[in-house]
Amino acid sequence: MMGLGRLCDCAATLVLLLVSVAPSQAALYSPDEPVVVLDAKAKTYLLGSRSFWLTEFYASWCGHCQAFKPTWSSLAEDVKDWRPVVYLGVLDCAEASNFATCNEFGITGYPTIKSFKFFANEISEGVKENAGRTVQLLRERIVDRLEEQKNSRPPSCPPLEPISESEVEQFFKTKQEDYLALIFEDASMYTGRETALDMVQYEGVSVRRVLSDQDDVVYKFQIPSFPALVLLCRNGSNTIVNLVEDTRYSYTNFLRSLPGVSKGNLPLIGVSNNITAEQNDKRIADSSKVYLADLESAVHYTLRAEVSRFSILEGERLDALVTYISVLKKYFPARPYGRMLLSSIYSWLQARAGTEVLYKDFQDVLDNKDEVQNAVLTSRVNYVWCQGSHSKFRGFPCSLWTLFHFLTVQAGEDKTANPQEVLQVLRKYAKHFFGCRECAGHFERMAAQSMSNVSTSDDAILWLWDRHNRVNKRLSGAPSEDPEFPKLPWPSKALCPFCQVQDSGNKLVWDFPNVLTFMKAHYSRENLANDYLEDEVVLLERQRNGTRKKETNSNKDTPVEEPSEEKTKIHHKLIYPPLNTEDHENKNKKSHPGSEVEFPAHVQVEEEKNTGEENSFLHSLLPSRSLQGSIEHDSDNAIQPQILIDIPEEEFHHIAVRKRLLRRGVVAEKETVNLKGRWSKTLEVGFSRLDLSLCVVFYFLSSMCLLGMYLYMSLRTRCLRQRTIYS
Ligand SMILES: Cc1cc2nc3c(=O)[nH]c(=O)nc-3n(C[C@H](O)[C@H](O)[C@H](O)COP(=O)(O)OP(=O)(O)OC[C@H]3O[C@@H](n4cnc5c(N)ncnc54)[C@H](O)[C@@H]3O)c2cc1C
Repeated sequence: MMGLGRLCDCAATLVLLLVSVAPSQAALYSPDEPVVVLDAKAKTYLLGSRSFWLTEFYASWCGHCQAFKPTWSSLAEDVKDWRPVVYLGVLDCAEASNFATCNEFGITGYPTIKSFKFFANEISEGVKENAGRTVQLLRERIVDRLEEQKNSRPPSCPPLEPISESEVEQFFKTKQEDYLALIFEDASMYTGRETALDMVQYEGVSVRRVLSDQDDVVYKFQIPSFPALVLLCRNGSNTIVNLVEDTRYSYTNFLRSLPGVSKGNLPLIGVSNNITAEQNDKRIADSSKVYLADLESAVHYTLRAEVSRFSILEGERLDALVTYISVLKKYFPARPYGRMLLSSIYSWLQARAGTEVLYKDFQDVLDNKDEVQNAVLTSRVNYVWCQGSHSKFRGFPCSLWTLFHFLTVQAGEDKTANPQEVLQVLRKYAKHFFGCRECAGHFERMAAQSMSNVSTSDDAILWLWDRHNRVNKRLSGAPSEDPEFPKLPWPSKALCPFCQVQDSGNKLVWDFPNVLTFMKAHYSRENLANDYLEDEVVLLERQRNGTRKKETNSNKDTPVEEPSEEKTKIHHKLIYPPLNTEDHENKNKKSHPGSEVEFPAHVQVEEEKNTGEENSFLHSLLPSRSLQGSIEHDSDNAIQPQILIDIPEEEFHHIAVRKRLLRRGVVAEKETVNLKGRWSKTLEVGFSRLDLSLCVVFYFLSSMCLLGMYLYMSLRTRCLRQRTIYS
């Protein structure tokens, strides 16, 4: 089989070359978009400004922010000519250098949209906008806000109120413009005001609205219907302009094309000139490993970014933090200095139970201001397996899942532990700290449905595994899906060949005992990889030097152990010894020993549909058991369904995923996203089972042929030798 082995190696190399690394890109917003990418100096832009700012505070890892991104980009494009009166800003709260700024602005969830009126003095003057999430609604909200500030607008902002008859009469006597465009409309319409803002950068024309109930002006110009555009010229003429359609766009285009109307040369704040460069060093990651660097990143980010959003910690929120630290202390695979700091944090928090804790005091403990000897946690994110192909993908939420799977498995080792302990901590964490509020809402809903039924540590491991797969399924095809890591049922066949088995009807179904065994092996301490970790001594040194505050979450200066292989590799290696087949078959026949919940080895879709209320726990615990066919869908869509893409079961299937990626142009026709089988997965180049079987048959035949030739030749040589001797 050496030959086939070589063939595999070649094919794998080929595929590794195909797994390209995305070119360096900036976080969610690209440099050519008309948004101002804000940073830690956001205050200098948003406060005391002669412009109105509508700002999105987001986290690049947040799926809802990614889902919302097209809306924000379209809005930015739509109102780009309203600059410098109106600017759209974006601030990435996931950037370590922006943590403090986002806290200062009181951002507790993502995305948060805040408007800052002209000349706003204080951060507290920022208004949280819940104007719906469509371009039109947001645009109209801007207009409303501008109109509200009637008495304190800068001269660059055009008048938005309806013009009176006397103003019309006086217009050319007091103004320099060659034209006055009157837009007649109903009070509820925005066309007049939006057109006026569209013309902000143009000289020579002024745009005003007239309401349909201003009888004097309507009568004066004999307006037949609304909306209507009347153009008044300095020479005294006036005309009702008949355009193909009476919309903002046709009015704007017409007015811009008038002789003598030209675009002024207004200084604008640089567009996207401030984007932080994407971390360039791509990590070599092995999908079969769990990286301590990812787990440490999750702990760092939760404590320094997520918890820091609350300047005062008290009541349930403080309790959520204390219990979180408590499970970290017990089950987190911290390195010696990390363990020391976790203990120190825990004791400090315990001493303050039932009181009020200021985050800044908590931060001092995190920073080890009291200089407890040899106590430090990492102070930057450093993703390895969780590094996305682009900074907007994966990252923190990936590390958070990984951390909690790891903790549930570790808690399982402790026979005295409360089986729900880690799950309840995750539930509380999501409720009180998870910046992705909609994710938290979804998770809470799932938890409320069935978490209380978890009664063993095995249940807990499988509960989280199953819920995570449900989230994967729901997000399959969503904008937050990293094209290089499509959302598929996990673990894949390549990672765990015995977790997915074919039932008698050739359907792929989960084998729960094997899934459990796999989860325990995958999220075990033995499977932890230490690649890319910064030495604790280096961390300590940095803590001592007090440089932490200046750091960003960039990994680029991180001194790391560089593996020698080529940088773009993603290994899909099978590290677990295949389960004993006999054992495996036996297990298929019986329920999982030692578990109070009987997990059927093979559960069919049909069975699932029939379980209904009779077996509600089983039903609620494992509704997505089948990997094929369609089943009823998680009805989580009560929360913000317009943002979350609910994908039907069949779309979650690997063939559909491939088609989707093809449609999105993410993979080329000949590449594969396939789970056809272990070998084809290893080869990753789309060989079918038939190809592989033929390959093996031909290999066998050619070996036989060679063997025959060898035997024939040696026999013949022997005969010839004997003949020579006798002659
Ligand atoms: C509690 C929680 C709720 C979330 N809810 C939402 C939401 O409602 N909407 C939204 O847009 N985003 C949500 N997210 C984020 C989303 O689930 C992903 O984390 C994010 O899209 C990044 O995906 P990823 O490809 O890195 O893999 P992730 O789904 O983050 O998974 C991380 C790693 O865990 C392993 N893994 C995958 N599946 C399983 C499994 N079933 N069991 C064990 N290990 C597994 C894999 O190695 C994978 O690479 C949530 C995150 C969390 C932590």
